[in-house]
Amino acid sequence: MPSPQRTTRLADSAAPARPAALTGSAAARPLPPARIRTTVRVPLRFGDGYRVDADFTTFHDLADGAEHLALAIGDPQRTATPLVRLHSECLTGDVFGSARCDCGPQLREAAERIAEHGGYLLYLRQEGRGIGLYNKLDAYALQDGGLDTYAANAALGLPEDARDYTAAGQMLHALGADRIDLLSNNPDKAAQLAALGVDVRRRVPTGVHASPSNLHYLRTKATGTPLTLGHGLQLLPEGA
Ligand SMILES: [Zn+2]
Repeated sequence: MPSPQRTTRLADSAAPARPAALTGSAAARPLPPARIRTTVRVPLRFGDGYRVDADFTTFHDLADGAEHLALAIGDPQRTATPLVRLHSECLTGDVFGSARCDCGPQLREAAERIAEHGGYLLYLRQEGRGIGLYNKLDAYALQDGGLDTYAANAALGLPEDARDYTAAGQMLHALGADRIDLLSNNPDKAAQLAALGVDVRRRVPTGVHASPSNLHYLRTKATGTPLTLGHGLQLLPEGA
């Protein structure tokens, strides 16, 4: 698993992504190609009643062998630069509406914004920033003892972020989406995609969905630590 280079540069969410400056390396890694396996339409309905149809695509030959999904929403073919969100699986947030993080509202926001523009939501099976569901729940238990997200992972001997976007790059290439707008507050994602040969024309910031339970999580994410990026987040009321 590649270990992405870190920078301490704060996000300038309005600026276009500058991959070379972010990564220190302009060379794109060649990726083994993935192939499209199946595409099937699934009508979605979210907890607040929002409905949208998504074409779920599955793949052969993804780098890590996991069952990642690409959801085409709002006809990505109608735009030269589809809007793309890389969403890493969060069972507690996505399915159960956990208020310990903002994944559920982020997923819901992404679906609607992609529907408006045309693009893809890549649903990546890397639970708990890649450490897995059980480890994430162990880290929650440590957080209840006063540690922040990153200190809790460190106490478990785990990286604060083990996510890898190689499969995401393969999926975008297989879909013909080599040039995209990226819906994200995280400059590291844009840099990793650029290193995988995806041209990120623009990074589009998302809203931040704060609640009393996730405020500490979001503050930690925004402030960063010596190991992490500042995400340049601005906290807004929930639902903003
Ligand atoms: Zn989450």
